[in-house]
Amino acid sequence: MKYQGNCISEGIAIGRAYTYSPVEIHITEHTIARSEVALTLEEFQDLKRTAMQELLQLQRKLQATDPGKAKIFAAHKEMLEDEELEECICDAIEECYTLDWAIESSFTQFIDLLSKAKDPLISARTADLLDVKKRLLRIRSGTPEKNLAKLPPDAIIISHDLLPSDTAAIDRKHVKGIITEIGGDTSHTAIIARSYGIPAISGVPQAVECLKDGEKIIMNALSGEIIYAPTPEELLAATRAKNSFMQEKEIQNQFLKRPCRTSDHVSVMTGINIGALTEEEERLLPYVDYIGLFRTEFLYMDSDHMPTEEEQYEAYRNVLEKSGGKTVTLRTLDIGGDKVLPYFELPKEENPFLGNRALRLCLDYEELFNTQLRAALRASVHGDLWIMFPMVGSISDIRRALAALEAAKRSLEKDRLPFDEETKIGIMIEIPAIAVLAEEAARYVDFASIGTNDLLQYLSAADRQNAQIVKYYHAGIPAALRLIDHVSRKFAEQGKTVGVCGEMGGDPVFAPIFAGMGIRKLSMSTSRIAAVKQVMSLFSAEELAAVKECVLARDSTEQIAAFMEAQIAKKQEK
Ligand code: PEP
Ligand code: MG
Repeated sequence: MKYQGNCISEGIAIGRAYTYSPVEIHITEHTIARSEVALTLEEFQDLKRTAMQELLQLQRKLQATDPGKAKIFAAHKEMLEDEELEECICDAIEECYTLDWAIESSFTQFIDLLSKAKDPLISARTADLLDVKKRLLRIRSGTPEKNLAKLPPDAIIISHDLLPSDTAAIDRKHVKGIITEIGGDTSHTAIIARSYGIPAISGVPQAVECLKDGEKIIMNALSGEIIYAPTPEELLAATRAKNSFMQEKEIQNQFLKRPCRTSDHVSVMTGINIGALTEEEERLLPYVDYIGLFRTEFLYMDSDHMPTEEEQYEAYRNVLEKSGGKTVTLRTLDIGGDKVLPYFELPKEENPFLGNRALRLCLDYEELFNTQLRAALRASVHGDLWIMFPMVGSISDIRRALAALEAAKRSLEKDRLPFDEETKIGIMIEIPAIAVLAEEAARYVDFASIGTNDLLQYLSAADRQNAQIVKYYHAGIPAALRLIDHVSRKFAEQGKTVGVCGEMGGDPVFAPIFAGMGIRKLSMSTSRIAAVKQVMSLFSAEELAAVKECVLARDSTEQIAAFMEAQIAKKQEK
């Protein structure tokens, strides 16, 4: 049986389906006979023991590799042993409620109470309580635990969607591919899959229902085809296709270690986008010129609490030290949208991508912003740190962000803590309103980095996560290219650096256009560096400028893509 989806991270994988859907259990109020009370109390103690064993195993497993995450499970064990909570559950059972309802209602009471606490550290514990409650109810329902941190060999994950925290904790040794029902080319699943080199396909409706756990699957994330329960002939063909893809990659990889230059030796800097610096990213650091995007939200998402100034300082310092003097472009916290922190509850929004995210949110939560800015500034003495603000929409946003930065600097001075006063400050260009005002924006900052993922989304009013509308969300939309050209000219006129750090910067079809615009900094997922270096070597700087002119004169995505593919193919034939 065959299915079709959109390729979001290229490659070919052969493996077995591993369906992943976090269990949702709904409990309603029911009672038991008085004669069943004693037995139910015993059942509760058994249940607690099983949950304890699960938590202990999880804690032990993570202790060696990730002690930070291990702490989460230690805290869950403590909650499970909380005397007041236990008393509340036992009282409910004594009142002849079912065990399920006793758990549900008691946890709800405690969660309500905690969520009202003034101290954010206490209210943040509600997410953990919820987690413990879900664990108990899941064990009761007889459903085995599932997470992505430990996968069976050759697993192809099948899920409706994956949260950034799911993908961050993924078992990279055993995962072969990812298939999701939703999520577009620049969803975070796509970005992480590409950075880990995991083939991924999205936009496969009802994948979780149709692709059964354990069944053999071929996924071709070059064509978007998924073959479920393949025949031996199909398996043979897929193995051949996989081998030839690997060979092609091998050829591209020869470019990896070379500098990125046009055929007439004009340099274009290539950078990498990182979350937490992974082993793979560290391995590739010698072959790139800079870190163009350090998505600091991963540090927050990987933690069970709001990272302290000290923890952040250590993390930023670590990246700066490992980068060996290369520029590290640290983006301040970008949460909201699809990125949530379990310990930091925010009001529910109808349209989170148009809501209080990134810089907007940081400006609202002064303490949170100040902590990060102080940590980043303190780290600036350990390398070449550039700080940039995401989701800037207006000149007033820039002014407010700069004021917050200034306040952080003054507070460090007061505390006699050193920082580099010359730290470069920039903005991401990802909201069209600020792209239009590029000339004015450039006066306030040292550099700009174009976030094409969000810029395309906001310019074309098409959700980057929604696989149903990929035809509206396309890298080659002429309006985006013209707007990027405008931004690049306005920043260049004032001698300010401009780079691209959205996924388009690592797309071999579009990277040459940016170089033609005069953009000399492109930051991307590690898996794309070799291909970008290869394509850049095909053209001279003059040819790139001419290619850009031809592209900007075209008015449809199809024409632009066809033109670029033809130009690249012509060069490759030579
Ligand atoms: C972007 O929007 O292009 C970008 C790089 O940021 P993110 O993908 O993290 O939103
Ligand atoms: Mg963005």
